[in-house]
Amino acid sequence: MRKRALVVGLGIAGMSAAIGLRRAGWTPVIVERAPERRTGGYFVGLFPEGRRAAVDLGIAGHLHTRNPERAAGADSWSVDRRGRRRPALGFLDQPGEPAAVLRGDIEAALWQRIAGVEVRFGTTPVEITEGTGGVRVLLENAGTGKQYRESFDLVVGADGMRSSVRRIVFGPDEDYLTMWNAMICAFQLKEQVPSYEASDSIIIARAKRAVCVFGLADHAPTALLTYRTSDIQEQFSGSRVQRLRSVFSGMDDPVARHVLDSLEEAPEHLFDSVHQVKMPRWSTGRVVLVGDAAWCMNLYSGMGATSSLRGGAALGAALQEHPEDLDAALDAWEAGLRPFITRHQRTARLKQQMFVPSSRRAEALRSVLLGLVRRIRGRRPATKVGGRQAPALSGTST
Ligand SMILES: Cc1cc2nc3c(=O)[nH]c(=O)nc-3n(C[C@H](O)[C@H](O)[C@H](O)COP(=O)(O)OP(=O)(O)OC[C@H]3O[C@@H](n4cnc5c(N)ncnc54)[C@H](O)[C@@H]3O)c2cc1C
Repeated sequence: MRKRALVVGLGIAGMSAAIGLRRAGWTPVIVERAPERRTGGYFVGLFPEGRRAAVDLGIAGHLHTRNPERAAGADSWSVDRRGRRRPALGFLDQPGEPAAVLRGDIEAALWQRIAGVEVRFGTTPVEITEGTGGVRVLLENAGTGKQYRESFDLVVGADGMRSSVRRIVFGPDEDYLTMWNAMICAFQLKEQVPSYEASDSIIIARAKRAVCVFGLADHAPTALLTYRTSDIQEQFSGSRVQRLRSVFSGMDDPVARHVLDSLEEAPEHLFDSVHQVKMPRWSTGRVVLVGDAAWCMNLYSGMGATSSLRGGAALGAALQEHPEDLDAALDAWEAGLRPFITRHQRTARLKQQMFVPSSRRAEALRSVLLGLVRRIRGRRPATKVGGRQAPALSGTST
């Protein structure tokens, strides 16, 4: 008899885990709260570890990457306080040469790979109880309100930063979400900012607030507004557009104006507070968390999608290695993954300063530092400077 696993969440972590489980000889069943599979999403940079995991999961061939080519005129710009545009290092110039994708590109590739896996939309877990014979889960269909119980050999919580599985089994959000006193708003632009090339990237990083435009090769850019605030609760009251207009008022810049105007017309956007999830252990008994549910590193780290792919692939590999011993498999999985997660959770604080400096001083320091790195890079042989070709999905970055 094949063992059955309930995977909660049809995001990057859930689908990666389902592929890993199936490969290890398990039968995964995915439940997803939304009524249908989401598409689109914001800009994501996929780093070498994520590209390697994509290869391991067998999705590399399906994954559409969108790195703009510099040879085609695409560039990265920063805009200073006097409104002057200067060439700058962009997100894609980071070490590891991230592959530029939309979140939906990764999910679409995973979706193709999970063909044949049972997916129940509009379904969430309400109760999770572990017994001797497995895990009893009370599931609820959001459309009909119908509830039913089912047993599984393992429950995988891949239901994001505000995970229900974590809340039900491990405890309330407050025990695990760390406060970052910052907000984000991400959405797709209909059109590039006037006077910029279609696939240019732009960053305006001021003390406590920043506007980013991520240029893509064959898609309109995506935008990210991020700001620091000590009153997170207050940010969720009233109109979001008015709130953002007021936060970014005074940043009298055509880029910021275009982005804010575009937000009003955007069919959807993501508006949320920024946190990291910190847990002493990602599993208990027959329940394990993966992806943002377990270790959300947040957008500043740029490693959430990468770690979700890697986490799911590694879970499958550990189960395959310890087919008769679930405890040993989960121990080995966590021991192998935790150093990587901890390292990137730590560096996210520094990266946050690069996205949205905490003060005028940090803003000036950031500008000097990035200018210096850019000049040093500029002295290297031409082949090494700001290469923007989509990196090989084998993950062997140069
Ligand atoms: C603006 C922004 C930029 C980012 N940029 C990058 C980047 O450059 N590089 C990078 O690697 N990462 C980036 N990330 C992070 C990355 O997108 C996430 O870490 C990754 O998508 C997390 O995947 P996940 O599957 O763990 O969670 P999610 O994507 O949150 O998926 C969870 C799924 O579970 C479902 N769900 C939730 N609750 C329930 C429930 N009770 N029952 C059933 N289903 C449920 C949800 O509907 C969803 O489908 C960024 C994130 C943001 C917000």
